This record gives sequence, structure tokens and C-alpha cells, in this order.
Amino acid sequence: MENQILPTRSSMPKFEEYCQEIKELWESHWLTNMGCKHKELEEKLLKYLKTDNITLFTNGHLGLECILAGMDLKGEVITTPFTFASTTHAIVRNGLKPIFCDINKDDYTLDVDKIESLITENTSAILPVHVYGHVCNIKEIEKIAKKYNLKVIYDAAHAFGIEVDGVGIGNFGDASMFSFHATKVFNTIEGGAVTYKDLNLNKILYDLKNFGITGPETIDYVGGNAKMNEFQAAMGICNLRHVDNEILKRKKIVDRYKERLGNTKGIKLVKSQDGVKENYSYFPVVFEDYKYTRDEIFEKLKEKNIMARKYFYPLINDFGCYKDEHSSDETPVASYIASRVLTLPLYSDLDLEKVDEICDIILK
Ligand SMILES: *Cc1c(COP(=O)(O)O)cnc(C)c1O
Repeated sequence: MENQILPTRSSMPKFEEYCQEIKELWESHWLTNMGCKHKELEEKLLKYLKTDNITLFTNGHLGLECILAGMDLKGEVITTPFTFASTTHAIVRNGLKPIFCDINKDDYTLDVDKIESLITENTSAILPVHVYGHVCNIKEIEKIAKKYNLKVIYDAAHAFGIEVDGVGIGNFGDASMFSFHATKVFNTIEGGAVTYKDLNLNKILYDLKNFGITGPETIDYVGGNAKMNEFQAAMGICNLRHVDNEILKRKKIVDRYKERLGNTKGIKLVKSQDGVKENYSYFPVVFEDYKYTRDEIFEKLKEKNIMARKYFYPLINDFGCYKDEHSSDETPVASYIASRVLTLPLYSDLDLEKVDEICDIILK
């Protein structure tokens, strides 16, 4: 639809810039299997994310599946239900059991005070999510992980480029997964990466994303196919040149939203975190005893052709595939937020006039 405002809009380089980037591929005929573009993007991201080790994937989800497999985890994994389906699916598809921990009321990441009571002798890892780009309570999670000898894998799908006191977000825990899906702050059309501490994981991840092929005549793992191809990597190389500027443009939009909605009774915004360099990936608004409910606001915006998103609703523990064994009653805070939250449209070239129009509809 012509005038429809969607929750998000993919960042793209100029057409000519992308054509220039993929031109070589018509000379080399090397389209996938860790070619030049793949290697170049890997090196560039290592610098941008300020991490020591990185492996690229065809999407973030398979990256998460591979890192869980690569760590050879067993039993139960403590995680949040307030996230995208991918987080829990990656656990379950690895034959592991998700244990849902509630979130905190301030930034909607894992409530660290509720983790310990969920740990059993079967727990092998914690999988928190830097939801909306809000940084989890990294210090407390690390303390708990050390005490019980658990691995920590962060779902950093929303956290591209975020830094804590100058340290890249991908350096915390044992590993972090980033998503480069079309709707994320930085995209490779579809794509993703895993960053990690243990250098030994490099070879395992490489093999897992390439059928477990370890040599010309040896196959040593039951791997899958999760390689990022050259066209994806070329898109990433182009988009990476502009991502800082895109984030700056997002900041202006978020600043306007905050200015317009910030001091309204019944509208709850999340505070900026100390020492955190943000990426302005989402703008979640919680309607808490506001004159309209979340669903009423959603409908009012929709009537004007503006699509906000009930992100995340429903909660994962209420999904058809999980509700027999789980329930959102076990995570009351997540349940409360999920029924009141709306993420407002946000992308780098969203006009400030449109932002004002959205705010007017909400405040009217
Ligand atoms: C986007 C997303 C993923 C999955 O990433 P893909 O690249 O789309 O596979 C995982 N977790 C969260 C929280 C996400 O938002």
C-alpha cells in the first residue's frame, strides 16, 4: 500500500553501490562457500563489533542453533519467554529443555533475582536476550554462571553495535548471536553471526555450518548447511559503510518519540542505561493504566494506515507448540508487559512529521 507506515523498513545501499560490490562475482563465479566477500565481511565485523572471534551464518537463527550444538550442551537451558520464537526454538531443536525465567520491570531482560531458583542439576546454560537492545544484567548473570558452572549464550539479535563502557556487546558471556535479518539495524538481507570467547569453537562452528566436512575426504560432524553466501556478504559490506549514519538517524527519531511521549501519565518508556552506547533498534511503549489500552492504540494507528507491532505478544510459553508444558502464568511480569507493549514504527528514513502524527494519534 502506498501510504502505509510499517513497523520497520530495511536499510539498503544505493543500487549502484551494491552493483559495484557484486561485479567481481561475475568474474570469479564464486557465489558461496566462504568466498572473498564472506571473508572480507567477517574481518570488517570483527573490527566493528570489537570482538576476537566471529563466525558468519546464513541467518541468526542457525547461528544460535549451531553455537548451542557446538558447546555440546545437555539438559535444561534457562531463558526468557519475552523474545522472538527463534530463541526458544533453537534450544528445543537441539534436544534441550527451555526453562522460562521471568523478566524485570525496568528493561524487560531476564530478572536475575529469579534465575537461581530455577537451576537444577540438569541445567547446563543460560540464554538471556538483550531484548530491544537493552543490555542484560551482565555482571549478575556472570556471577551466577560461575557459581554453578553454566555456559552463557546471549541472544544479541537486537544488539548490533551496542557497547558497554566501550566494550563490544559480543564480548560478554561465552558467546553471542547477532541477526542480520532485513528488519534489523544492520542487514545482510538474511544473515547472522556468532561471536565467542573460546577459539576452539571456530573450527567446530565452521564445520557445523558446512555439513561437518572437515577435509577433502572426511566428514566428522552431523553438520547442516548454514553458510552465508557472497551476495549476502556483499550487502553487508555495503550496509556496514552506512550503519553509523543509520543509527544516528534512528536516534533523532527516538529522541522525538521520547520528547513527545516521555512525560505522559500511563505511558511507560524504558530509561537509557548508564555507560551503554545504544543502537536505537526498537521503540517499545508500555500502556499502563493509560486512557486507552494497547489494543485500542494499535487499532487507532491501523485505521490511519500506521502499523505498530505487538512485539512480543503472545509470549513464547503460550505458543501452541509450548503451551502443553509451559504457561505464561509462571512468568507474570513478562505476561503483564506482553499484554501492554507496542513497538512504534522506527527506521532510519521515517519522517519526523510522521513521528509527530503517530504521537498525536496516541495522545489525542
Ligand atoms: C531476529 C531475531 C532472531 C533470529 O534471527 P534471524 O536472523 O531472523 O534468523 C533471534 N532472536 C531474536 C530476539 C530476534 O529478534
